[in-house]
Amino acid sequence: MKIAVIGTGYVGLVTGTCLAETGNNVICVDIDAAKVAKMQQSIVPFYEPDLESLFKRNINNGTLSFTTNLTEAVNESLIIILALPTPPSEDGSADLSYVLNTAESIGKVMNDYKIIVNKSTVPVGTADKVREMVAAHSKHEFDVVSNPEFLREGVAVNDFMKPNRIIVGTRSEKVKKIFAELYDPYMRQGERLIFMDERSAELTKYAANAFLATKISFMNEMAGLCEILGANVEQIRRGIGMDDRIGKQFLYAGIGYGGSCFPKDVQALAKTATEIGGDFRIVDAVMKTNYAQREKFLDKIINYFGANLKGKKMAFWGLAFKPETDDLREAPALYLIEELLKEGVEIVAYDPVAMENTQKQLGDKIGYAKNQYECLENADALVIVTEWKNFRNPDFEQMAAKLSNKAIFDGRNLYNLDRMQELGFYYNSIGRQVIQ
Ligand code: NAD
Repeated sequence: MKIAVIGTGYVGLVTGTCLAETGNNVICVDIDAAKVAKMQQSIVPFYEPDLESLFKRNINNGTLSFTTNLTEAVNESLIIILALPTPPSEDGSADLSYVLNTAESIGKVMNDYKIIVNKSTVPVGTADKVREMVAAHSKHEFDVVSNPEFLREGVAVNDFMKPNRIIVGTRSEKVKKIFAELYDPYMRQGERLIFMDERSAELTKYAANAFLATKISFMNEMAGLCEILGANVEQIRRGIGMDDRIGKQFLYAGIGYGGSCFPKDVQALAKTATEIGGDFRIVDAVMKTNYAQREKFLDKIINYFGANLKGKKMAFWGLAFKPETDDLREAPALYLIEELLKEGVEIVAYDPVAMENTQKQLGDKIGYAKNQYECLENADALVIVTEWKNFRNPDFEQMAAKLSNKAIFDGRNLYNLDRMQELGFYYNSIGRQVIQ
């Protein structure tokens, strides 16, 4: 099939590449000319594991190409997938300007019947708005489909190739047939295509993200109780996760969720509820808990040093909002760094892939280390923010030798408490006893 993907971010580029990989002819459009030029030279513009080989293979095959020219891409394609940003507006609702402006442009240039597919995360009713916008500018027939994306950064290619479900919101039988064919190659592990109406599809995405965020915030609140009551949240996690009704995933206490999706989607769902005159009280609590979690972690560091905080040197392990990505959007590390800098703390950080993006954002306000051990040189504490695999089983002797003060604040519960005790570290983690 001939497909145009508009927006080549984490979702658009992975979608375009994976659709090309299964035999479609894909042309990706982006407004960012420098990014398009990079991709035309076969350079993946961000870090996403497993993407590069598929990306290069399909460029070489001639099944994946890039342009800034929307008209050309729209006219050559039957299916037009929107993978555009939907950032939060000032009032917390999703900003639909990227989606609706593009819908307008598509309406103006389309030359034939098109299927316009919304993969961006958008509030209920957006398919109707896109339909109205296109219809206002075109006499050609078209369908609008809501096809929210569930891939996770860091494992995006695998998620796209082996989805746990694909949601397609359409009431058109003709579109259903085309989508059954389009997604058939990804159903080899079982039928996972669910058709529903557009509104339900739009809301399913918010329901999924808000539910997952709720699981995280629940465990973070539980961690707070554990700290006061002398229990260990890791044991609670194992104890409840064995129950299939609860499930093992997303039960890790930490410093709160970040990233480009959960914070904005939870907020947008709360906004949707208030707009229709209701409340989504659980979601409101989830947001409050999430924010409080990073503040509590900061307080642990501040309280440990007390009046001596100013001038202390801290090593940060991890900057990205989660491992296996260079994405810094709403990363708790940025909040912690900004707050500690205000207190006069000196910071040196190490992250396997997110340092370039951090440098673009923070410049030389902090130092950047070549590796995780160099980062510790003469530091008064190590602060662990992202659970990259290479932080999980480090050389503790080397760490002890490099740190000028053997204190670790672990926002990801990476280490065993007994081991920390044996090694003589001060070790303050989440929802567990403080080792001192
Ligand atoms: P992103 O910010 O990484 O990428 C968006 C891309 O769109 C950028 O390359 C930007 O230059 C381009 N763009 C902006 N305006 C454009 C225009 N008018 N024409 C063409 N290109 C334009 O975004 P993302 O993370 O890929 O997210 C896209 C959507 O998918 C959002 O709605 C997001 O909520 C949703 N989503 C994201 C994820 C994720 O993990 N990142 C997962 C599921 C869903």
